[in-house]
Formats: sequence, structure tokens, C-alpha cells
Amino acid sequence: MKAGTVVPGQKDSARLIDIDVPVLQPGEVLVKILEVGIDGTDMEINQGDYGESLPGQDFLVLGHEALGKIDKAGDTGLREGDLVMPVVRRPDGCSNCQSGQPDMCIEGNYRECGIRGAHGFLREYVADEPCFLVSVPQDLRQVVILTEPVSIVTKGISRAMESHRRSVNPVRLALVLGAGSLGLLTTALLRLQGLNTYTLDILPKSSLKGQLVEATGATYLDGRDYRIDELPRQLGNIDLIMEATGNSTVAFQAMSALGINGVLCLMGVPAGDKLLEIRADRVNLNMVLGNQTVFGMVSANRSHYERAALSLVEIEQKWPGWLARLITRRLPLVNFKDALQPYPEGIKTVIEVS
Ligand code: BGC
Ligand code: ZN
Repeated sequence: MKAGTVVPGQKDSARLIDIDVPVLQPGEVLVKILEVGIDGTDMEINQGDYGESLPGQDFLVLGHEALGKIDKAGDTGLREGDLVMPVVRRPDGCSNCQSGQPDMCIEGNYRECGIRGAHGFLREYVADEPCFLVSVPQDLRQVVILTEPVSIVTKGISRAMESHRRSVNPVRLALVLGAGSLGLLTTALLRLQGLNTYTLDILPKSSLKGQLVEATGATYLDGRDYRIDELPRQLGNIDLIMEATGNSTVAFQAMSALGINGVLCLMGVPAGDKLLEIRADRVNLNMVLGNQTVFGMVSANRSHYERAALSLVEIEQKWPGWLARLITRRLPLVNFKDALQPYPEGIKTVIEVS
């Protein structure tokens, strides 16, 4: 069968190769992969900046956002034909991993399919255990691939809200930095909660990203007209900032925009080595005097995927057709390399595998 692969650590190494169809082990399910979503992490891996292969192997099958159909359920009791999404992160032996929270792994020996130490899903078939497969709604077939990025946002927002609960003032004003797929999905989830939401990117308001932001009732800000540290003066106390650009400069600028009791959630994975000068005293002082929280978060566990699938249903009900507009490009597997090049005008690329 065909598989889209890279050689981790090597720039522009993406290529399509032939590998064997997996042989089903007892307790495993054969999943036919229908489509795979591409994100910034896949691009970073193809740049050679991130990612790790399996011990003793030089190539890595790419792809961590996947939608599949159960092809052979074996003796597992699952139903053939059901739509499933395999989870990305696989546990090591640590106590968090062993209690169903590999996203909070302590020992760091977790694997991430298509990213670190385990092959991904950009191939025709995957054999997997039922505990790593999440059922997703059949009637959202066209957009349910977005469950994986929504799972990340679900974890980020719920942890931010937990941090905020120490203040009796509710979260009123939220700022989302970046209107890529992660930023847009964050915007939609915050709007589902009724928050006054501003989302910033560096394109005109008339762009697709701008239109999608405003369609949720949030306000789009063209970042070329604003300085992030001056936003509080224009918008008021910013209770919550969700950083979704993956740009560490923006992440540090966000610290100086945070309001009293504000919470900043960092979701990006910048794999570079950037040096930055910051007004450290001012940021530190504001953070202390303002009881602020800055936290980073990564990955998601099964419960976040399950909640994410429900949120997609809610988004589709509230803004019909909105999710489908996020998927701006569908490419066949043979052209997967094209999906790994910068794509500023688009939002989400989906590779159609079968
Ligand atoms: C993936 C996460 C993963 C993270 C860090 C993201 O692109 O969606 O599942 O934990 O990269 O590797
Ligand atoms: Zn662990």
C-alpha cells in the first residue's frame, strides 16, 4: 500500500513509498484511512526541525489527524463501517499515561503517531487497538476530520477556565491570536460559550479568515493595524488569551496584553531557536500585580476527542456550513508533498487517502 513519509531531521524529505498492509494482531482492528488533515507540525517535520522516527528506522509515516473506517473488527466487538479517529499520543509506563492521560505524560517516553517514535496515518490501512480509536459522528463525515485540532483547543480552553475559576469575575473578553485552523476553531468554541471574542491575524478583514471569524459573532482584527500590547487600551481588560499562531514572538507579546487576573494559554509548537528582547521587568511586574497565569499545553486525551466531536455537532448546528469552509483544499495522496509547503492564503488541507 502507499504511504506518505518523511526522513525526520532532513529538510524536504517527503516522498510516497510502498509499505506492507499491516497484519492484524489479536485484539486489533484494521482501519481503512479515508483522509488525513495537515497542520503546522507536519510542515515543521518536513522542514527537518521536528519529529523523530522509530528506533532503528530512518523514515516516518507522516499524518496525525486521521479519519478512518473500521474495515475488519476482528474479535473486538466494534462495528465494521463505523467512522473512527485514532488518537495521536500513545502512553509510556508513567502514572499519568497509565491512568488515561498520556497528554500529561511525566516520563516523556510517550510516542506520537506521525510525529515522534510511531508511524502516522498517511497510508491506506492502519492496525490499531480499540482503546486508541474514538468513534466520531457519521453525519459529519465531511468535516469530522477537524476533531483532532478541536481536541487540542478543548483541552486548552478547559484548563484556562479552571485557572480562571479562582476569580469570581467571569471571563468576559477573550482574544485569539492567529486565525489558522486552530485559531478559528478556538474562536468558534469561545463563541459557543458566549464570550466576547476578538481574533487577530495579519490578513484583511475581507479575507476568508476574517469572514469566518465574523460569522461566529466574534470581531476580526487585522494585526497589521494594531500593536498587541496596546490592545487592552482599545478593548478593555483581556481575561483570556489563546495563542494559536505558533510564533514565539507573538506568545511573548501576548504576555503584555493580558489583563488583571488574565490567563494566557500557549498552544503553538515553535521548533526553532529564536532570540528575543523583552521588557522583562514590566511583564514580570504586571504578571505578579495582576495575578496572571501563563501556561502551555500539548496533546489531548480520549475524553478531549469525545468532547471535541460533540462540539463539532454544536458548531454545525449553530453555524451550518461554517466548518466545511475551513477545509480549503483537498489533495489526493499522490500529491501530499504539496500540502507541506507554506499555505498562507488557505486554512486546512485534507489529504484524501481512499
Ligand atoms: C499535534 C499534537 C501533538 C503536538 C506536539 C500537534 O500538532 O496535534 O497531538 O501533541 O503537535 O507534537
Ligand atoms: Zn507517560
